[in-house]
Amino acid sequence: MKPIVVLGSGLAGYTLVRELRKLNRDIPITLVTRDSGDYYSKPTLSNAFAQKKEAASLVLTAAKDMAAQQKFTLLANTEVHAIHREARQLETTAGVIEYEKLVLAIGADPIRIPLQGDAAVLSVNDLSDYAHLREKLGNAKTVAIMGGGLIGCEFANDLALAGYKVAVIDPGPYPIAGLLPEQAGRQLLEPLNNLGVSWHFGKTAQRVDAAGAGYTLALSDQSTVSADIVLSAVGLRPRIQLAKNAGLAVNRGIAVDEQLQSSDDAIFALGDCAEINGRTLPYVLPIMHAARALAKTLAGEDASVIFPPMPVVVKTPAHPIAVLPVPRDAAGTWTVLAEGQGIRMGFFNPQNEMIGFALTGEYAKERSEMAARCAV
Ligand SMILES: Cc1cc2nc3c(=O)[nH]c(=O)nc-3n(C[C@H](O)[C@H](O)[C@H](O)COP(=O)(O)OP(=O)(O)OC[C@H]3O[C@@H](n4cnc5c(N)ncnc54)[C@H](O)[C@@H]3O)c2cc1C
Repeated sequence: MKPIVVLGSGLAGYTLVRELRKLNRDIPITLVTRDSGDYYSKPTLSNAFAQKKEAASLVLTAAKDMAAQQKFTLLANTEVHAIHREARQLETTAGVIEYEKLVLAIGADPIRIPLQGDAAVLSVNDLSDYAHLREKLGNAKTVAIMGGGLIGCEFANDLALAGYKVAVIDPGPYPIAGLLPEQAGRQLLEPLNNLGVSWHFGKTAQRVDAAGAGYTLALSDQSTVSADIVLSAVGLRPRIQLAKNAGLAVNRGIAVDEQLQSSDDAIFALGDCAEINGRTLPYVLPIMHAARALAKTLAGEDASVIFPPMPVVVKTPAHPIAVLPVPRDAAGTWTVLAEGQGIRMGFFNPQNEMIGFALTGEYAKERSEMAARCAV
């Protein structure tokens, strides 16, 4: 019997394997991953510097132990180059592998903005990137972060807590502007500033040049920022090339329906690489819901994913935030519901139903109650 082949050992791949094993101990599973396959929690990467954690200490379960516990064949350090759909085969650096069903859980790549100069810009999207940044931080004292979104602000908070002076550069008007309304985003300014973070909004880095042991960033308004390390956190782009080359339907992500099925009924996708009915949802909770639904389908049930309200927690301990993001095109308005040591805001649609919220500071802990009040 040909196996179900899961491609990728991140949260999406491993959650799917775990969920599938809860339903069926016998279906053969092969997991192929181009990294070591060691299991870690990616969200910890943006709050581990302050705790001085080595990359190795972030591994929760070694790959071989995962394989033994969940009873799958592991092909680690193995890259898949091509999918041959007719033959149901994968071309890999370890030879050809056959599949009965294929699950693409291959994640997303950090977006690189074009920069002039001899830029040595780092980004952190996996454990090896984290190890690399830790090594580079060595004797550094200052860090410039390109991108003041969720991940950029989390790194800013963490690195500032670890003692670095941090400059955040972002073309938007305030922190986390892609997810938060302005009054909520602005709540982060002062608490992070008090930790040593300087903000450079409405600007982009155009050049990064080596200067002494560090770098000089030339910004779009002719100002400059000096830093020992430059970190880019300007967003992620789903990895679609493998699927596209195989002729699968792709948009921003690999296009799948509510059963996580692609345009080929033997191939599924979930996690950061997937676009589910037109939406990319690169967060832990949607991945877990999607993995549970897909496990049922692969075990022979007919299951669709239904997403409840899924708040995203922003790990900025200087000023905690939880947000239930609103789709970009949603009709409605943000309303301030309370203001104290932070702010509670709701997004109300034209029927006056709350369909999103932003909670900061003392209100951040209310996310479960607020989610329960939201119309799905
Ligand atoms: C710093 C950081 C902090 C975050 N914090 C939060 C948070 O607080 N809350 C939250 O909800 N979300 C958070 N996220 C997002 C969340 O972590 C991701 O959505 C999630 O981990 C993605 O998992 P994934 O399995 O889809 O992708 P990945 O973990 O990227 O896994 C992709 C896998 O595919 C493999 N792969 C790729 N291409 C190939 C190939 N061709 N052949 C073989 N293998 C391949 C890779 O080796 C890897 O194993 C954070 C993200 C980052 C970067």
